Amino acid sequence: MPELSNACPAWLTSWMDMHDISLWGAADLQAFSTPADETGRRFSFAISLAIPMDPHIMAGIQQGPNQAYADEYARANKLINELSGKLSAELQNKGFRSKALAASDRTDTINIKGDFPHKTAATRAGLGWIGRHCQLITRRFGPWVRLGTVFTAMELPCGPPAEREHCGRCTLCVDTCPAGALKGAAWYPGIPREEILDVSACDRWKNDNYYQFHKGHNCGICSAVCPYGLKILKKDK
Ligand code: SF4
Ligand code: SF4
Repeated sequence: MPELSNACPAWLTSWMDMHDISLWGAADLQAFSTPADETGRRFSFAISLAIPMDPHIMAGIQQGPNQAYADEYARANKLINELSGKLSAELQNKGFRSKALAASDRTDTINIKGDFPHKTAATRAGLGWIGRHCQLITRRFGPWVRLGTVFTAMELPCGPPAEREHCGRCTLCVDTCPAGALKGAAWYPGIPREEILDVSACDRWKNDNYYQFHKGHNCGICSAVCPYGLKILKKDK
């Protein structure tokens, strides 16, 4: 196992400040199968970053998505892809292998997933935990963030990883989901996604009802009703 240094390199902290990224961290992924680089080698670490969504827009989709949300979703994804690409290039310039994971890129359409879960990198980096709505919840922005992941071979001080959820007795998202796709399970590290979310039911609902928004990729009702998000909105007033 590689030795980890105790402090993040100063250049990385400055890079994050310069790009106005206030919530980020490093994840130890040595126990996970990450995507490989062009030489076939996988990565032991990742940098996870969270881009906050506009809380007023998020609070406005409790009955279903709208165009403002679809635009905000596209804005955040575009920004994540730009920042992740830049950071990956910076890491490579400094001599470290790196690869950016695209935002919201569904590469496995049968199992409805991408090359690696952004949420796994984020929980391993300690950015937050997973709520009953199967999304990351952060202390600072609630669940109203979108995530980026940049894999790297650079050894970084990581985590501490999230070990448990903090939903308590709340089941608002489960009760509100119009597709009945949320099963009510409490997250723990390593829980299979299927135990929390019926991803096919969620996807079907989006396709059948909200196809006009990124071809059925948007819903967000479960996130919009989450008290951890609404709390942020109150602070923002
Ligand atoms: S995104 Fe919509 S359909 Fe999917 S789980 Fe959340 S509320 Fe249900
Ligand atoms: S709405 Fe309630 S149960 Fe659902 S993720 Fe948020 S806190 Fe957890």
